[in-house]
Amino acid sequence: MRFSELLEKSMPELIRDLQGCIRIPSIYQADDSGYPYGKPVQECLEYTLKLAQSLGFTVHNMDNQLGWAEYGEGEEMVAVLGHLDVVPEGDGWTTDPYGGEVRDGRIYGRGTMDDKGPTITALYALKAIKDSGVKLNRRIRVIFGLNEETGSADMKYYAAHGGEVPVMGFTPDGEYPVINGEKGMRPTPANSPSPAPSSLRRSSAAPPTTSCPTRLWQNLSAMLPWLMRSPQRAPKASPSSALPMASSWKPRVSAPMAAPPARASMPTAAWCCS
Ligand SMILES: [Zn+2]
Repeated sequence: MRFSELLEKSMPELIRDLQGCIRIPSIYQADDSGYPYGKPVQECLEYTLKLAQSLGFTVHNMDNQLGWAEYGEGEEMVAVLGHLDVVPEGDGWTTDPYGGEVRDGRIYGRGTMDDKGPTITALYALKAIKDSGVKLNRRIRVIFGLNEETGSADMKYYAAHGGEVPVMGFTPDGEYPVINGEKGMRPTPANSPSPAPSSLRRSSAAPPTTSCPTRLWQNLSAMLPWLMRSPQRAPKASPSSALPMASSWKPRVSAPMAAPPARASMPTAAWCCS
């Protein structure tokens, strides 16, 4: 069966499992639960690790700071970095912010687009790769971050405690593929006369981008030839040289990120299935 057919076939399960993830209000809590980011975030991690395990992947929980699912073989590892924590829902919702309701081909709920939708989709894309039977000579690690929204302490923990550094990777976060990496933050005063970097401005000719699973799947499948190639026969890839090898995968943002808007009050997030 073709890769794209495997993906389409799994769509009902993907939507079901994404809804289950949305229904966990995984907002950071500083509490005495014993978990670094609070009990709801922990619950969401355990939900996702269990899901990944049921899909046939090796999973790892790194001290309740983050987790991952992995597939493939080889010394080199490619990372897909997502996160399961969300900001508070704010006001103005016309649906249950933690309901995961499907309406007119869209799923509504806090975290649907940022970043549970892309993260669960990456997991299902990995499943399609596994089910397609291709032999990978590199490993793919889908990382479940837990603290992106309030400081990324999880990634600092990963780096400080010997977390494996990938040879390449991308971050399907928010309005992916516009957002494809976590590159830090540049604080900008609200009254700054400086315009946003041109590469961050939305072209008036382009429609608004939504986090579309099809695009994420296409990008992962575009990487497949490189993932299957033996590292011994190819020059060792560096993060910068490896990117062009996936012919249709071209990061669009190269400038530092501007300070994000206050998102706590944004009422909605949608994830398209076209
Ligand atoms: Zn995000």
